[in-house]
Amino acid sequence: MKEVLQQLPLKATEKQAENKKFFARLKKRPPKDLDYTMKQLHEKEFQRTDCLTCANCCKTTGPLFTRIDIDRISKHLKIKASAFQEKYLRTDEDGDEVLQQVPCTFLGADNYCSIYEVRPKACREYPHTDRKKFQQLGALTIKNTFVCPAAYNIVEEMKRLINR
Ligand code: SF4
Ligand code: SF4
Repeated sequence: MKEVLQQLPLKATEKQAENKKFFARLKKRPPKDLDYTMKQLHEKEFQRTDCLTCANCCKTTGPLFTRIDIDRISKHLKIKASAFQEKYLRTDEDGDEVLQQVPCTFLGADNYCSIYEVRPKACREYPHTDRKKFQQLGALTIKNTFVCPAAYNIVEEMKRLINR
């Protein structure tokens, strides 16, 4: 996995222009069964990708925290929501609550998440490749191909399967 992650930014850069064109065409004319196709592709990819050997999303990007996330996690940690925010979060330039630092504080050396059961919604959904109306997530997905080897593979498989 180490080698895969080292090569990923270069591979994603090489595919960036092609991926932009593909998603632009996909947005204009999405296939009727796109939700179904994405669910299949996502499941197939994550059967062969072990996130515990990777954790690159937790190490390099980190999620945004919604109000509901903050309340749930601080309750789990038995601290006040305001104390949780002060200790772990900052408000970014878009006004979102994000981690003060990456790698994420809750990531262990073994790549396990210490708050896995109550982790933010954004972590649960990452890399969003099984989301409905996926044609609308082109920009985000292209960004994720630089970070997530599974997202990169899914986009490559999409281009092979969907003739757009
Ligand atoms: S979601 Fe992607 S980046 Fe995150 S651990 Fe899994 S394969 Fe790696
Ligand atoms: S909360 Fe857990 S899943 Fe989310 S970025 Fe941190 S370690 Fe990763």
